[in-house]
Amino acid sequence: MRLKYYPYTLELKHTFSVSSFSRNTTPIVLTEIEHDGYIGYGEASMPPYLGESHESVMNFLSMVDLSKYNNPFDLESILIDIDKIAPNNNAAKASLDIALHDLTGKMQNQPWYKILGLDKNSTPFTSFTIGIDSPEIVRQKVREAKGFKLLKIKLGKENDKEMINTIREESSLPIVVDVNQGWKDKNFALEMIYWLKEKNILHVEQPMPKNQIDDMAWLTENSPLPTIADEAVQRLEDIPKSKGVYSGINIKLMKCTGMLEAYKMIKAAKTLNLKVMLGCMTETSCAISAAAQLSPLVDWADLDGALLIKNDLFDGAEILDGKITIKDLPGIGATKRKF
Ligand code: MG
Repeated sequence: MRLKYYPYTLELKHTFSVSSFSRNTTPIVLTEIEHDGYIGYGEASMPPYLGESHESVMNFLSMVDLSKYNNPFDLESILIDIDKIAPNNNAAKASLDIALHDLTGKMQNQPWYKILGLDKNSTPFTSFTIGIDSPEIVRQKVREAKGFKLLKIKLGKENDKEMINTIREESSLPIVVDVNQGWKDKNFALEMIYWLKEKNILHVEQPMPKNQIDDMAWLTENSPLPTIADEAVQRLEDIPKSKGVYSGINIKLMKCTGMLEAYKMIKAAKTLNLKVMLGCMTETSCAISAAAQLSPLVDWADLDGALLIKNDLFDGAEILDGKITIKDLPGIGATKRKF
């Protein structure tokens, strides 16, 4: 097998603000694994807070030697080898996992949802994400979300109630909120969640800092809405720790090293009666399509990442009437655009 990779920068349609930072671009690295005349595509997306960069991903990929593997269907053992090259580097690892899944799906002429025995009609609705912003911009974004059935609102700054009240002037759609660890006091957090429940909010993602485990467990026990772990959960090993602390988990390919581990995490979470949300970074339709293959398995999805960028490089899974719609193409179901 042969590996190629190159860096690229995604431009966001709007400045994206969450409780701790703002940005206009996202660095990504695209991978291609070639074998037997087939090409599998993959992607690493590196929002700054996860600590990976163009440089770190290119450096990790330079240490990967795929020429020693002759059978891409040894996918699991290849990915275990890759995982051992260095700790962390989860987005870099995901770019190889996605490309290997795309390659092996194409070699079988089957999309991955079929290989996994899933029903593509049972994909969930996806939320449309609105970052923290001024009331005027928030209104504009709510109007852009026309057709979506669910909004995801970023909270955690001082204007939380203003954000929600502004949106409620424009839309009565159900909302999920993501606080990105922004509430530091458990009593304040509980008060906010009671207030949000009255506003038709469905669940609250990462309300408190991931290290405040006892506070989080207390909050989940007392909360009238489900709590979802995002920053607190990266990989499979983090799932047992979430039981009793959160009501559910948010799985993202870039956090968990890709589709293989994401699939294992979904199974593990369900065994523990944890709700499962499938999320994304700002990324192209390559990584979004890969995640979409697993989406029939989850309770909620937040796979709008490709809609937030100006320069997508792939066509793939789409959002039609707010629902994730998988293309009937082999592999991850994405095709590279000519550019
Ligand atoms: Mg989140």
